[in-house]
Amino acid sequence: MFETLRLTRTLYNAGLEQRREAYRKQGKTLSAYTQQAELTALKEACPEFGTVYSHVLQDVFDRLDKAYKSFFSRVKAGTKKAGFPRFKPRQRWNSFKYKQCWDNKKETWTSCGKPVNDGKRISVPKIGNVKIKLHRPLEGKPKSLQILLDVDQWYAIYACEVHNVALPATGSSIGVDVGTTWFAITSDGGFVENPRHLEAGLKKLRVQQRTVSRRKKGGNRRRKAVQSAAKTHRKIRRQRLDFHHKTARSLVNTHDLIAHEALQVSDMVKSNLARSIADVGWASFFSLLALKAESAGKRAVAVDPRYTSQRCHACGHTGKENRMSQSKFQCVQCGHTANADVNAAQNILARALPSGVNDSGVTHVVA
Ligand SMILES: [Zn+2]
Repeated sequence: MFETLRLTRTLYNAGLEQRREAYRKQGKTLSAYTQQAELTALKEACPEFGTVYSHVLQDVFDRLDKAYKSFFSRVKAGTKKAGFPRFKPRQRWNSFKYKQCWDNKKETWTSCGKPVNDGKRISVPKIGNVKIKLHRPLEGKPKSLQILLDVDQWYAIYACEVHNVALPATGSSIGVDVGTTWFAITSDGGFVENPRHLEAGLKKLRVQQRTVSRRKKGGNRRRKAVQSAAKTHRKIRRQRLDFHHKTARSLVNTHDLIAHEALQVSDMVKSNLARSIADVGWASFFSLLALKAESAGKRAVAVDPRYTSQRCHACGHTGKENRMSQSKFQCVQCGHTANADVNAAQNILARALPSGVNDSGVTHVVA
């Protein structure tokens, strides 16, 4: 598996070089298809690539193509740092993919990822039957299998096609305002705390990163310190993801419509670092929320966040002077007082609802 990682990474970098050259010399943009067509010739010239399954090699060019396409779309969107596709060093290449696990004609497994030996092993073409710990049974129809190395552990990730199951309607809508003090504040006055264990993990990570920078480059002790920092980082990543999943799940289960602020990518560059980091976290949370809502037949709506923190939810008066302090909102026109974040969440919800429904101050409306 390490060897497959090495070869696929070499192929990716060579493919990137080929694309750059083709563009520089002839002004031509190569497609994944053109590059894939050369694989047979490549295997003849460099037999070591014959030790990797053909779909895995093809997927490398699909990935490269995707990197190019998202680069072009960033350019088109006018992102300041569009980020041209980069050559992959070892630490930035950690997976390869079998793109066809299921034979649709025969309605059965192909040799890619097929469970063998009572599910104790899976078949990984050109590598062998690999021992596996199945964390949960596969649902639906398996489509693809990705083999991924995460620091010091290997993962088999199956993508499966499943049917959406709509959840029963609850007749409730909610607005969600995200922040740094609280993870989220809802329009019905609910506060979702930032998980404490994340703080502890981040503290540990900072200490470990200092240890890394103290140690001599290229040394064994530094390598070990890098490894332990990477493990802490992995743990934090998973805890955060778990928290996002659970929070999004509970929102989708209890509400039919969930409104939240749209994150502005271009604003991210302008704002401070802490805010940018938090934005990344929220972006991943909002995308999970959108996925869960869609598969449950519910709606997650992103609204324009401008002035949501300055507008009075009761009378609509908008102004900086309404904000008494970080947490207190008091309207200078009508005297309405509220928690500033709850007021913002109510404004966010109002923007997602058809106009006219929102002026009553009611946050729960029957859809
Ligand atoms: Zn007011």
